[in-house]
Amino acid sequence: MADLIHKTAAELAAVVASGEASAVEVAQAHLNRIGAVDGAVHAFLHVDTDGALAAAAAVDAKRAAGDKLGPLAGVPLGLKDVMCMKDIPTTCGSKILEGWRPPYDATVTARLKAAGIVILGKTNMDEFAMGSSTEHSAYGPTHNPWDLERIPGGSGGGSSACLAAFEAPLSIGTDTGGSIRQPAAVTATVGVKPTYGAVSRYGLIALASSLDQAGPCARTVLDAAMLHQVIAGYDPHDSTSLTDPVADMVSAAGTRDLTGMKIGVVKELGGEGYQSGVRQRFTEALEILSGLGAEIIEVSCPHFDYALAAYYLILPSECSSNLAKFDGMRYGVRAGDDGESSVEQVMARTRAAGFGEEVTRRIILGTYALSAGYYDAYYGSAQKIRTLIQRDFDDAFARVDVLVSPTAPTTAFKLGEKLDDPLAMYLNDIATIPANLAGTPGMSLPIGLAPEDNLPVGIQIMAPARKDERMYAVGGALEAALLARWGAPILTQARAL
Ligand code: GLN
Repeated sequence: MADLIHKTAAELAAVVASGEASAVEVAQAHLNRIGAVDGAVHAFLHVDTDGALAAAAAVDAKRAAGDKLGPLAGVPLGLKDVMCMKDIPTTCGSKILEGWRPPYDATVTARLKAAGIVILGKTNMDEFAMGSSTEHSAYGPTHNPWDLERIPGGSGGGSSACLAAFEAPLSIGTDTGGSIRQPAAVTATVGVKPTYGAVSRYGLIALASSLDQAGPCARTVLDAAMLHQVIAGYDPHDSTSLTDPVADMVSAAGTRDLTGMKIGVVKELGGEGYQSGVRQRFTEALEILSGLGAEIIEVSCPHFDYALAAYYLILPSECSSNLAKFDGMRYGVRAGDDGESSVEQVMARTRAAGFGEEVTRRIILGTYALSAGYYDAYYGSAQKIRTLIQRDFDDAFARVDVLVSPTAPTTAFKLGEKLDDPLAMYLNDIATIPANLAGTPGMSLPIGLAPEDNLPVGIQIMAPARKDERMYAVGGALEAALLARWGAPILTQARAL
């Protein structure tokens, strides 16, 4: 069957279920595409050809035996390299884990496998998920399929680029400060950070445990909803896992009329510092939402102005603790073990050799912020800001059903442009970080191209905790209205490949 790679996940699942094409043919088409374009894109750190074909063959065998297939059975996926997959190299984009093969599957990985989803390989990322461009990957950056000279977002740039390059219709990302949503925005794909605790963190190599959340990445709202449904749900292996039943995101994604919906526009997220084409597309999206029946209301969240500062104290503090286990003693790389040096010396050499600049910077920052005498001033104050941000969300959601903002202040910037300026890099997440601090869900959805550079712009839709389905309702309706205007999915305009 021709052109399997441009189909959505929902379409591919139907193709496999009906027997129009086998799961093996679907997997092979995507592996061929990876072979053809990934030299230029570098979305994947590892391609598991044999494993993918075997998983696809198992789906075909199940179908032949007349067994019922799951809703995404036989659909290929790229898995962010922060997620453990048994016996498959898992590096987190770091040299310190080079060659490590996890002895177990993360819960997300296990659920994907059980659903018959075909894992093609591990996607590139900034080292330990710190960054907004994938340039901090120890294995070289990923390139944006819209313009190979530009960044695909980060930290999950491999997971966004593989979708935009049609190497996979689905991928998994993780979002600690925006690493699912910002890459989605700059590649014209859909990315969802679920409510904190909605998707298990077991086997997700931790960056900042109170902020990390895995979620679905796709090319359509419906595909993201279907994947969300597969990976979400209670897991006894994760002490922060929510016990709520998973809501019906797929039905919500079918919403076309927003009558009665109150949509809050966050005053603090927009305006100055946001590229003009980003603002223009965002304003147009608000008009479309209003045309669909929603009531648009301006809302103020005054403490969002302090979110970035609080995040860059809380995140380094947690990561300095989480990354202490990478010491060359238990797994991964060991450097300078000459048989005479002390354990401390070998640990220091291993960490110096294994960690990149950004990771080192954050470990030092976090260690400092947590040290005696500074703890209250830095970490303690940041936690207070976090509470105030949570209250801003509570106050806002007392007035409106969802909040919206541009996802990122600019379109994709050039590779190298912000690499030497950490603060400029951090500012990419100015609009996405509040949701991580509050544990609330957020989605990014493409809303067009900025007229000045013809690069994708995303809208962020945020909902109250445990109300993820609202983002799918608003996103589904907006996406359908945009598609009717454009006549074709926006990714058909990505012409770099
Ligand atoms: N870019 C942000 C950071 O560098 C977010 C990272 C993430 O969400 N993993 O921390």
